[in-house]
Amino acid sequence: MKIGELEEHYALELAQLYDENEAKALFSLAAERVLQFSPMKLKVMGDSSTDFIHLQKMLSILNDLLIGKPIQHILGEAHFYGSVFKVNENVLIPRPETEELVDWIISTCNSKSPSERLDILDIGTGSGCIPISLKKYLPSSEVYTLDVSGAAIAVARENAANTGISINFIEADILNFSAKEKFDIIVSNPPYIRDLEKQQMHDNVLMYEPHLALFVSNENPLIFYKAIADFAKTNLKSDGLLYLEINEYLGYEMVQMLKEKGFLNIELRQDMQGKDRMIKANLPS
Ligand code: GLN
Repeated sequence: MKIGELEEHYALELAQLYDENEAKALFSLAAERVLQFSPMKLKVMGDSSTDFIHLQKMLSILNDLLIGKPIQHILGEAHFYGSVFKVNENVLIPRPETEELVDWIISTCNSKSPSERLDILDIGTGSGCIPISLKKYLPSSEVYTLDVSGAAIAVARENAANTGISINFIEADILNFSAKEKFDIIVSNPPYIRDLEKQQMHDNVLMYEPHLALFVSNENPLIFYKAIADFAKTNLKSDGLLYLEINEYLGYEMVQMLKEKGFLNIELRQDMQGKDRMIKANLPS
């Protein structure tokens, strides 16, 4: 089969689950991995034939995609802020909106005082994409990260080792955590999807991603943010900053909650899709 024909086959089959652009992107990711082609080379190779082994691999990836498996789980990796992270069913697949949060932190730190030694705590490690990216681009900082899931920490440790980045892991539950260290930056992307929003989620998220990392009750959707804010009140240095990724529908509630807890300069930002997605705040010094 020619590569161009294989691409058409992918497009036709994937149309049941994905739109045209998504199907194209999925074909490219699979082909880049299996055929080891760059995206440029792939574009000009439409007329060449795939050998049997490669064809079998491409068809097996397509089968997995058709049962709704995320491409990142099929390939075992996801791209985030210029690095490749191992992912599996124990960690959330890194999202582009979280790259925007990381970018906000890195650009603020670099414009304020580049190469300052900052103590950073990330709450809810997952794949390690936030703490590892922060340490990579703010190398003089000391980065700590915490997760309730030992299985997630194992993945993040592997990612840190693979990227040659050294961070400190803590297995603990933020709902029940105290520490004596003080931090310049506390950052978190905790679970924030309310049960009532479950029906808007893609099946592949519901079936393959850890619910522990995603969902909160309808009754107390800010449960993690309240605990993080309380922790920050005792463990943020006087000029420290709190950064949070948030539920797009709860921007107002988040700002109110942080105000009530005494935070100042609360800045709510939208993501690339124009959704309320992240917050920066500090405490009175
Ligand atoms: N943004 C993620 C999603 O929409 C959720 C991340 C989270 O709950 N922290 O799937």
